[in-house]
Amino acid sequence: MKCPACDSDQVYRSRAKSLRDQALKRLLPVTFYRCHDCGWRRARWQKLSVKSVSLHTLSLVGYIGSIGLVAAVILSAVALTLKFLGVPMPWAR
Ligand SMILES: [Zn+2]
Repeated sequence: MKCPACDSDQVYRSRAKSLRDQALKRLLPVTFYRCHDCGWRRARWQKLSVKSVSLHTLSLVGYIGSIGLVAAVILSAVALTLKFLGVPMPWAR
């Protein structure tokens, strides 16, 4: 990554030195970065944490589940309509 202040490539991970940084690191999934050229320093959100992965998997399961539910509702609505019209089911001869 590049330094947003001076556009240098000399940006490295930095340790949480101050008490405030250490508290921040314990509370939040953040990583500290420091620019060796101009001294720019900032905490950034970690891109991939276990928490976000499990949340993503859960949402995927919910997504597939809701699609299945919608498909079941549509299918039953079609079946009810066919029954109401007196048309025999294509699968029930
Ligand atoms: Zn810099």
